[in-house]
Amino acid sequence: MDGDKQKIKHTDLPSGIVMSGIRPTGMVHLGNYFGAIRNYVRMQDEYECYFMIADLHSLTTHPDTSTLKSNVKRVIAENMACGLNPEKATFYCQSHLYETGELYLYLNMLAYKGELEKTVTFKDKARQHPENINAGLLTYPVLQTADIIMHRASLVPVGKDQEQHLEMARNFVVRFNHRYGEIFPEPHAFNYNEDLIKVPGLDGSGKMSKSENSMSTLYFGDDDDTIRKKVMKAKTDAGPTEANSPKPDYIDNIFTLMKLVSSDEVLTKYNNDYNNCNIRYGDMKKQLAEDMIQFIAPIRQKTQDILEDNQYLIEVMEKGAQKARISAEKTMKLVRESMGLNYF
Ligand code: AMP
Repeated sequence: MDGDKQKIKHTDLPSGIVMSGIRPTGMVHLGNYFGAIRNYVRMQDEYECYFMIADLHSLTTHPDTSTLKSNVKRVIAENMACGLNPEKATFYCQSHLYETGELYLYLNMLAYKGELEKTVTFKDKARQHPENINAGLLTYPVLQTADIIMHRASLVPVGKDQEQHLEMARNFVVRFNHRYGEIFPEPHAFNYNEDLIKVPGLDGSGKMSKSENSMSTLYFGDDDDTIRKKVMKAKTDAGPTEANSPKPDYIDNIFTLMKLVSSDEVLTKYNNDYNNCNIRYGDMKKQLAEDMIQFIAPIRQKTQDILEDNQYLIEVMEKGAQKARISAEKTMKLVRESMGLNYF
């Protein structure tokens, strides 16, 4: 290391920058909305925001790119239908920012095999796809860190499933700053006022997800009948026999979903019914299905409208990439200088 190199301090750097991403591996669902997109929409009015479609991350599990372009466009349209405004936030596609590959390479030198192998998401995916345990999957959190710190973001609106990745991102940042100079703020997972959110699947186990267990996930692309069918299939039982008894997980999940989309009165009614042992789960699920439809249908329609204007979607991507590049070029100049890779 160059002994004369000036160390750059955190305090010289912008703070309160927001960055998050979503993979184009399938249709956007309720978990993406309540874990991430709902926060994007609010944060875009309050912070400098960068939101990204993580097409490179999707290659770790979805190497077939034949539907990638249409998936990317769909996820862009779905985010915008939920209220993300590309005039307010910088909204771009990950592969359009070539600088990310360079930063990812440098960070890989600071990430250890042991810690990557211990990552819960890596272990889960390796178990699900034993035929494709690739290095990209192992270094997924490194690429994610590159995406976040490329804009020197400190706030990362994500769901609970990303908590460990954010902890790893902080470790990589601390190592980088320690070795090469205080360039990056430490990133933290963010959710307004509450703990990080995990939207459960309708089958009572796991979480809603884009590419797994599609019958227990509610997508913004689902039509009304599909929503009804999925909600009515949610697991229940004969109901409690003792007043105020604890809720089994699969019942608690239905209440969690109701809390997200139904009114307070409706939620209170079913909570009281549960506590008084006279709950009728059939009625509860019917109510939940109709409230879900009220919530999802307008977003589904708006997505369709946006998708019809292909030229507009391309413009959104182009403009987003241009704006993201301004921030990335600044960061990479700083990174190369601090690492002593600025030969001329
Ligand atoms: P992914 O679909 O894995 O690309 O995730 C995109 C964003 O949605 C991330 O911030 C995740 O944390 C969030 N997310 C995905 N599934 C859920 C879920 N079931 N509950 C809450 N947040 C979720």
